[in-house]
Amino acid sequence: MPKSVYFFGAGRAEGDGKQKELLGGKGAGLAEMTNLGIPVPAGFTITTEVCTDYTKNGERFPDGLEAEVKSGLSKIEEAMGAKFGSAENPLLLSVRSGARVSMPGMMDTILNLGLNEETVRALVRRTGNPRFAYDSYRRFLQMYADVVLGVETHPFEKLIDERKGAKGVRLDTDLDAGDMEGIAESFLTLVKKTTGNHFPADPWKQLWGAIGAVSKSWNNRRAIEYRRIHGISGDWGTAVNVQAMVFGNMGDDCATGVAFTRDPSTGERRFFGEYLQNAQGEDVVAGIRTPQPVNNNSVSLEKKMPEAYRTLITIQEKLERHFRDMQDIEFTIQKGKVWMLQTRSGKRTAQAAVRIAVEMVREKLIDEKTAVLRVNPAQLDQLLHPTLDPKAKKEVLAKGLPASPGAAVGRVVLSAEEAIEWAERGEKVILVRQETSPEDIHGMHVAQGILTARGGMTSHAAVVARGMGKCCVAGCSEIEMSAGSFQVKGKTVSRGDWITLDGAAGEVIWGRVPTVQPELSGDFATLMNWADRYRRLKVRTNADTPADSEVARKFGAEGIGLCRTEHMFFDPERIDAVREMILAEGREERERALAKILPMQQGDFKEIFRRMKGLPVTIRLLDPPLHEFLPQTVREVEDLAKKIGVPAAKLKAKAESLRETNPMLGHRGCRLGISFPEIYAMQVRAIMEAACELVKEEQLEVYPEIMIPLVGHVEEFRSIRRETEQVCREVLRQKDVSLRYLVGTMIELPRAAITADAIASEAQFFSFGTNDLTQTTFGFSRDDAGKFLPDYLSRKILPYDPFVTLDREGVGELIRIAVQKGREVRPDLKVGICGEPGGDPASVEFCHQIGLDYVSCSPYRVPIARLAAAHAALKNA
Ligand code: PEP
Ligand code: MG
Repeated sequence: MPKSVYFFGAGRAEGDGKQKELLGGKGAGLAEMTNLGIPVPAGFTITTEVCTDYTKNGERFPDGLEAEVKSGLSKIEEAMGAKFGSAENPLLLSVRSGARVSMPGMMDTILNLGLNEETVRALVRRTGNPRFAYDSYRRFLQMYADVVLGVETHPFEKLIDERKGAKGVRLDTDLDAGDMEGIAESFLTLVKKTTGNHFPADPWKQLWGAIGAVSKSWNNRRAIEYRRIHGISGDWGTAVNVQAMVFGNMGDDCATGVAFTRDPSTGERRFFGEYLQNAQGEDVVAGIRTPQPVNNNSVSLEKKMPEAYRTLITIQEKLERHFRDMQDIEFTIQKGKVWMLQTRSGKRTAQAAVRIAVEMVREKLIDEKTAVLRVNPAQLDQLLHPTLDPKAKKEVLAKGLPASPGAAVGRVVLSAEEAIEWAERGEKVILVRQETSPEDIHGMHVAQGILTARGGMTSHAAVVARGMGKCCVAGCSEIEMSAGSFQVKGKTVSRGDWITLDGAAGEVIWGRVPTVQPELSGDFATLMNWADRYRRLKVRTNADTPADSEVARKFGAEGIGLCRTEHMFFDPERIDAVREMILAEGREERERALAKILPMQQGDFKEIFRRMKGLPVTIRLLDPPLHEFLPQTVREVEDLAKKIGVPAAKLKAKAESLRETNPMLGHRGCRLGISFPEIYAMQVRAIMEAACELVKEEQLEVYPEIMIPLVGHVEEFRSIRRETEQVCREVLRQKDVSLRYLVGTMIELPRAAITADAIASEAQFFSFGTNDLTQTTFGFSRDDAGKFLPDYLSRKILPYDPFVTLDREGVGELIRIAVQKGREVRPDLKVGICGEPGGDPASVEFCHQIGLDYVSCSPYRVPIARLAAAHAALKNA
């Protein structure tokens, strides 16, 4: 049998800080601190392997464990100069869980173990403090009864309350030694009555009961749920730490507290924490009394126990220097002596993470690469959007998908028109829709945030909102839409009511919650510069407007990877011309309508090129099916008919004729270009004229990349490319300009990926449209997957939403094949990704590994992608 018990104490530990997998985070930290000569109460750690064996073998501990525990126990006795179960000088123990990663409060703990009628009297004699002794005893009885014997805690609380009532006092601290002794007695009776058995008085029996219960708590409901949410494996198991008790509640020269070596919310370098005088650790957690700050206060630890405080400062400095990271520590002061009970890397906000990483490089504690790796790319999101004031109170009405982060406060509007109307009056609005469609874009644009009842993480609302850097909660199935309002859990929220959205948490909150603005500090810029030094992948942005392009440039975008031209069609000024084009009878009429759109598109492109200053700009030709541009309801059709002077019947018939059973697989993408070459010709002309004019009139550098969507067969591409090149040549000749430009394709269909060699013989670049490629590979409709994907995730059929994080084995494999086949034919083929996973850190890592040239994501995710690309390069070096 492998070694199962690792001792630490008296300045020497059998394990060390690197053995987190075997000893758990707490056990490894205790061992490392002991080896550093920091005062840690002696103890031993039973390995995580024992826990997994215990679970596997029907809750039976391996043979041989008992002997190891016995030997560990005698080492503790020796180190602490006390004896377990002794009626003279009893050793008391704590038994705590400790997994590889911290799972705060999810598993069980038992304190003061070893107490019984006899040892408690010894404790009274030795401490001369009967109140303390009986208080410890009754705490132990309650905790043990709850955790090991499965007795409810409520009747225990009731007994304490009865005692307080009889005495006419309010607080536990008002009870004296006699009261505590009485309470302990009543607890023993309660246990006998509820379980039918006497409370186990034998300390050795108590210890095994506790070790078993703590091991079992790995699989309690709370812990399982926590692991599911945080993606922690159920196979790891917990270690069990058995350690000599030290007491923070023996009198006013005792205390207990929790602290950080730096401020975990701002990152400032200052010792930061809280403590309670004359208290046990659980009192801090339970919030029975309000803890005091360790410093900067008249009742701080620094003022009350200056010597212990100085010791603590020395220890925390030593720990931080040793671990070279901000530490989260737990300590207890017993009769003026400081004991350390835990150290681990502290959780921190994104702001703190950036500041600590940068400052630690300046302090020469870590190097730049380590600093870059210390900041979690996904966490940067917190810095890039306004967020809810963490101190504010909130009433959460419902939860949906956290589709686009940030916070938004506004009044409820229920249609895009309403949003525009209210916004024009200067109102802040939240657009609430069953789901959104391209027609809602302008409403979304003026809204502070978007809430939808249906749709997933790549639904229209989610994608567009992220693109706009706008907060969005999508697929909030708890809300029910009705005319003029929506219902949620029996409450009616009406048009004009104030609500707040938390896009990072997916929360819908009643009323107006205050928000705080992000500050992209100097440290942020420094860290991003370091990240840029180490990454290989370029980072571009998905942007459709000059404003978005500008934001993306500020965030460091190195080009546009996807400009979705259809978004430009929805501008109220041009949508009618677009509709005229759709309704046109024949090519000539259509060309007349297109001629109206041309100068508008040209203007858009010009402005985008100007802002991108010679960086590559990938412009995708029209992609969505035409019906999306026509009104849907009878009323909307009638309104439009009146407005543009077309018979309503004709409009209705056209809308009918464009309706498709499955529009996502219908008449869209390059199929439109095949059926209506004049549409693409107009767009190509607009692009090239815009480019030529900037070169000629403003001597600017411009680099257009014309992209054909949804190609599945090389002949589709060949045909459209021929027509595209013809227009390009024509414009260049007319304008008398020479210009570098590329014509390439999106790879969004499995057939395209598999025949990538043929396609690459024609296309100068590939951009993976993984939204469609995921849709077509899985056969999951992008717009309907929200209905069943949650079941897939909760039943672990899929580990994550493949529309958010690239599915490496399926979709990713198609991408890998396409890159390889494409480059075989065209070694200088430029390859990127522009689907939603382009801004997802795990997907960015995959893109790095398979050798893409760039990733492209919404402007607000550009810094995340830059950092993720650096992580990918450093981790895969
Ligand atoms: C894609 O399919 O991944 C893509 C970027 O295009 P769209 O989302 O516009 O279909
Ligand atoms: Mg697509």
